[in-house]
Amino acid sequence: MKDTITLGILGGGQLGRMSAMAAARLGIATVIFCPEEDSPASHVAIGTMVAAYNDEEALKAFADKCNFITYEFENIPVETIEYLESLKAAPIYPEKALLLVSQDRIKEKSFINDLAIKTTRWKEISNIDDIKAAVNDWNASSFILKTTRFGYDGKGQIKCNALDLDSNSELSAFLEKVNGQGLIMEEPVDFTCEVSVIIARDVHGNSQTYGPMLNEHKNHILHKTTVPCGIDQGLNDRAIEIAKTIADEVNLIGVLTVEFFVCKDGSVLVNEIAPRTHNSGHWSIDACAVSQFENHVRTVCGLPVGSSTRHSDAVMLNLIGDDINNIDQYLTDPYTCVHLYGKKEARNARKMGHITFLETKGTSK
Ligand code: AMP
Repeated sequence: MKDTITLGILGGGQLGRMSAMAAARLGIATVIFCPEEDSPASHVAIGTMVAAYNDEEALKAFADKCNFITYEFENIPVETIEYLESLKAAPIYPEKALLLVSQDRIKEKSFINDLAIKTTRWKEISNIDDIKAAVNDWNASSFILKTTRFGYDGKGQIKCNALDLDSNSELSAFLEKVNGQGLIMEEPVDFTCEVSVIIARDVHGNSQTYGPMLNEHKNHILHKTTVPCGIDQGLNDRAIEIAKTIADEVNLIGVLTVEFFVCKDGSVLVNEIAPRTHNSGHWSIDACAVSQFENHVRTVCGLPVGSSTRHSDAVMLNLIGDDINNIDQYLTDPYTCVHLYGKKEARNARKMGHITFLETKGTSK
């Protein structure tokens, strides 16, 4: 028998936790590396190293335990990946190049546009004069300003009216707060809905996709995902084709998520990409033979990608903050799957778990 494979995961959140659980099902052991004590992923892994991402001694000890290394979120410092690569202890997927692109909205949009894939109109911003020039150029009545890095769940962005820019106190306060950080200005998209596609691609270049999924947000945080998403077949196919184009272009090994705006004029625009599993794919644990998490583990460990075929339609609801206090109603329903992440404090806006409602195609036992 082969020795047990050990997969190292950088990051200890719920995505790492669900990948570790999928790994366990395949007989693959996981070791977590993260700076936080008592992280959700640590509860289900065989080992955890709690250390800073720049702690080289700890990183070396971690790498020595692993046959393969991956990460569960895209804001892992690139220097951490570079240091681990220099040790040549274990292959690290997805590749650093994708991480670099997804960490910076300017690089990300340039990369996507270079593939002849459309995004909203955008411009790099250094100061208020750049904003005024773009407002003029675009004849804009409003715009969205975002920090180029470290934005998530609506953090680090502001939507502004383009009138009276000099006396806009919200804009001045935002610019003061993000002083020194790179900024991107985007044209607001008049979308009918937001969808995402998740693609898993293995070392042989074979890939499987999940979705498109329909994503609805509350306070900038994903609230509900529905699959199938109900958009027309042409747009559906186009979204999948775009995800495949991006994955093939970077020779993806691992999982990649592409978020889209579906526009009133019948086009799709890419909003952003992430080289990881995604909240909009959590339903796949319960509605597919091979979930996004299992395919994450399979592909980064050199195993063949598994079928993403959906046996049930599904709706996923996030449990945010105090929502976790209302789970009793879900625990007795036969087609409702409850997932909790083991986080102790139900802080405001914290993702505590999720529920998947299955619309089963067959109900016999
Ligand atoms: P992001 O962090 O870029 O994914 O933005 C978070 C959410 O803000 C998106 O899911 C959209 O709902 C909204 N948003 C971001 N950029 C735009 C845009 N250019 N036009 C319209 N809505 C946007």
